[in-house]
Amino acid sequence: MKTYRVAVLPGDGIGPEVMEEALRVLDAVECKYGFRTERTACHVGGAGIDHCGKALPAETLAACEAAEAILFGSVGGPKWDALPPDERPERGALLPLRRHFGLYANLRPGVCLPELTAASPLKENLISGGFDILCIRELTGGMYFGEPKFYGERDGEVVALDTLVYHRYEVERIAHIAFKAAMGRSGRLCSVDKANVLTSSVMWRDVFNELAPQYPEVQLSHMYVDNAAMQLARKPGQFDVLVTENTFGDILTDEMAIICGSLGMLPSASLCVREGNTFGLYEPSGGSAPDIAGQGIANPIAQILSMGMMLRYSFGETAAADAVDAAVRKAIAQGMRTRDLYTAAAGESLVSTRGMGDAVIAAL
Ligand code: NAD
Repeated sequence: MKTYRVAVLPGDGIGPEVMEEALRVLDAVECKYGFRTERTACHVGGAGIDHCGKALPAETLAACEAAEAILFGSVGGPKWDALPPDERPERGALLPLRRHFGLYANLRPGVCLPELTAASPLKENLISGGFDILCIRELTGGMYFGEPKFYGERDGEVVALDTLVYHRYEVERIAHIAFKAAMGRSGRLCSVDKANVLTSSVMWRDVFNELAPQYPEVQLSHMYVDNAAMQLARKPGQFDVLVTENTFGDILTDEMAIICGSLGMLPSASLCVREGNTFGLYEPSGGSAPDIAGQGIANPIAQILSMGMMLRYSFGETAAADAVDAAVRKAIAQGMRTRDLYTAAAGESLVSTRGMGDAVIAAL
């Protein structure tokens, strides 16, 4: 039987609670689709600091190295807020993991299910029927990493400087991921840039245009980032796959998260290619939600869908991944709602974290 190695890093706050449900769903899906996972559970974030003084303990990194994918919960919380910034759970664990593995492609599905449009701050007439967008953000290049950076005095003036630099290979590899993702969906790919102002965006656009003939099934369009931000709030349903550079992606994915309704519904994947395979870190888009941790009320769907993305992208278990997505949709269609989704409308049942896990497993 096919066996995949997974490093399981539940982390802090609601992380362990929602991870438990994702692993229960994984048990069920393995049984149904005839594969196995070999899981190594490790401390990370605040749990790592409490365990051995490090947000990313050496044994955790070693387990990630030995794995084919990382299933990550979330890290951080008030207990560790007084630590110096570089030692805190997020900076001390997530960023080093991204850097260590060169996870350059961040995939964030922004799905607003038809039954949950009331949870979105957008007017219902703009999103009736819901929407389903996949946003792909370049994660290791651009202004956040460009050198030089400078803040100081030059010629008697205080100056601050960041550098926005992209190498062609960085744009090419994210473009291939985006074209392939679009092929697996409706075939519509919108590349977001600022080519009317930024030189790096001119190259970005050139690369996408040059690669487009390799993907004749994909209909490529371009949009300036300021317009994309407006269009997302005006008519999100017009988009299928969006792809953009690091800084623009940071901003647009947060906009997308809020228009979808609850953070508890949104998974993510950060990918690279390692030894010819798609390696990834799969995690919910939200954080450790200390305000609700330990109460059994967190929504486990983002974690469950992150596990589904792992099956799809790292293991190529497409049927199993489709089944996870479908089971979540079914549980929602049946009216199952954790507290973040509950509006007390007719047909809704308020369920716990465990209750939502049970509903997804039953739907499988
Ligand atoms: P957060 O995402 O943890 O919470 C924001 C709000 O969304 C809270 O009201 C929370 O209850 C709610 N929420 C989030 N996930 C939910 C879920 N699954 N079900 C129901 N409600 C949910 O953001 P925050 O409050 O700004 O940060 C809390 C901690 O998380 C901080 O320590 C922060 O540094 C950390 N954080 C970690 C990550 C990560 O691990 N990737 C990301 C963001 C924030």
